[in-house]
Amino acid sequence: VFITFEGPDGAGKTTQLNLLANHLQQEGYKVLCTREPGGTPLAEDIRRILLSPWEEEIYGLTEVFLYAASRVQHVKKKILPALAEGKVVLCDRFTDSTLAYQGYGRGIELELLHRLNDLATGGLKPAVTLLLDLPPEEGLRRGKKGGGGTRMDRLEQEDLTFHYRVRQGFLALARQEPRRIKIIDARQPVEKVFAEVLAAVSPWLWR
Ligand code: C5P
Ligand code: MG
Repeated sequence: VFITFEGPDGAGKTTQLNLLANHLQQEGYKVLCTREPGGTPLAEDIRRILLSPWEEEIYGLTEVFLYAASRVQHVKKKILPALAEGKVVLCDRFTDSTLAYQGYGRGIELELLHRLNDLATGGLKPAVTLLLDLPPEEGLRRGKKGGGGTRMDRLEQEDLTFHYRVRQGFLALARQEPRRIKIIDARQPVEKVFAEVLAAVSPWLWR
């Protein structure tokens, strides 16, 4: 089973992913936790390029190709083999982030991004996607408090309207694929969010 977490920075994706991983492991599932961009050594190198602040302007298409390149490595080398071994794969961000950030956020043509996503994943789709939804102001506030330090450098430079477009993008994607993408209000306490996460994934679990 392939499960992805989506939503803005500061929504608690990583926290919920770890809670779910622990829960599933206790239930006896074999679990692989991973993230995008990244997930393999080469893809993590691409992540470093994407997330560092550059003097040189990174064009939208450059960004798109780098995300796609890291995804090819990640899907082929890590996700597909784990699924073949019967593992539950939990991924922090995936193709929907590309559509939300580079598409709705930066204005790259959605049709192109859909095609690139399909190409990079070979058609692999998550069984269920947990969209941790949060107003942009709240996400940015939480992100800055986080211990990460530099992780916000590039995105912090974006104005709030960019983050509004990204949020609307995620919500639009959820409306297009309501059976796959479950919207969860990330402003709730961690335990309540986790209860909704569990409820959303339970139809996909067999134990
Ligand atoms: O913490 P996380 O791994 O989600 O950080 C990744 C960063 O890259 C975030 O700031 C996110 O907003 C950004 N990102 C992006 N486009 C994507 C995926 C992530 O701008 N397709
Ligand atoms: Mg995170």
